[in-house]
Amino acid sequence: MTTNIRAACVIGWPVEHSRSPLIHNYWLKRYGIAGEYRREAVPPEEFAAFVGSLAARGYVGANATLPHKEAALALSQPDERARVVGAANTLWLDDGILRSTNTDVEGFLDNLDASAPDWDRALRKAVVLGAGGAARAVIYGLLTRGVERIVLVNRTRERAEALRQVFGTRIEATRWEDLDAALTGAALLVNTTSLGMQGQPALAIDLTRLPDSAVVADLVYAPVVTPLMAAAEARALRIADGLGMLLHQAVRGFALWFGTTPAVTPELRALVEADLALPQRGNSA
Ligand code: NAP
Repeated sequence: MTTNIRAACVIGWPVEHSRSPLIHNYWLKRYGIAGEYRREAVPPEEFAAFVGSLAARGYVGANATLPHKEAALALSQPDERARVVGAANTLWLDDGILRSTNTDVEGFLDNLDASAPDWDRALRKAVVLGAGGAARAVIYGLLTRGVERIVLVNRTRERAEALRQVFGTRIEATRWEDLDAALTGAALLVNTTSLGMQGQPALAIDLTRLPDSAVVADLVYAPVVTPLMAAAEARALRIADGLGMLLHQAVRGFALWFGTTPAVTPELRALVEADLALPQRGNSA
């Protein structure tokens, strides 16, 4: 183990599909930082011990990916957003205290800011598809930007209703059958389901009712151009794609571990896009 350089890692089970090493090692090289970012395959029963020995292993912090995000939250001092979202994906040691956050929130917002400036100027109604972990990060982010109303559509309606309990009355759970009506007048449509991902069914949706000014975001990034992104572009709507979110969510961890706030550049995007185009890779940060 190298001890004289700063090191971080992504902890997952499995972890070989993670693109985080590609992203962070690109930035380390670009900024000339003598650091390392590694993959650590850790099964759930060993996660607590691994996280408890991060410093001893030479790490200043880590990303937690599937299936460890809830355990990472429980084993650390989370910030408010990680607590509300119910999952932590970024850990760092602060004077011996293990702290955590959920960077999907800012990844989602920063990507929208970069891809569709002023998207939140008249944010009266947003439609969010899905009610899993990613939806919680998206809803948290939209509420911080002052959205007046979020129409939440999920296959399992009870999960959408449960999010109304967590996030309050600006959330309204609706059935898939009523999606068309929900899209009327929506400023933003966000897909947080896994529909449209490689190996999953396509997301069947008609964008006709969205206003011409609407922005469409997809969290799915494999393929990079999902059927939803293609349909939105065909209607000349502004888009924010899942790859952009993946890159933006990595910024904060790098800054915390290595002391430099990195830029999401076209070169980095091209690098990860090329990697995603390779066959037989999964879909995870
Ligand atoms: P999750 O907690 O497992 O939630 C999955 C969601 O998809 C649920 O709402 C689920 O509905 C819905 N769903 C799955 N299969 C469906 C189907 N056949 N028909 C209708 N709905 C279906 O997963 P997650 O962590 O929220 O992640 C969701 C997606 O976001 C994944 O593709 C993930 O890769 C992506 N993501 C991307 C980023 C990024 O940086 N770009 C970050 C986080 C997540 P039910 O509740 O009815 O099961």
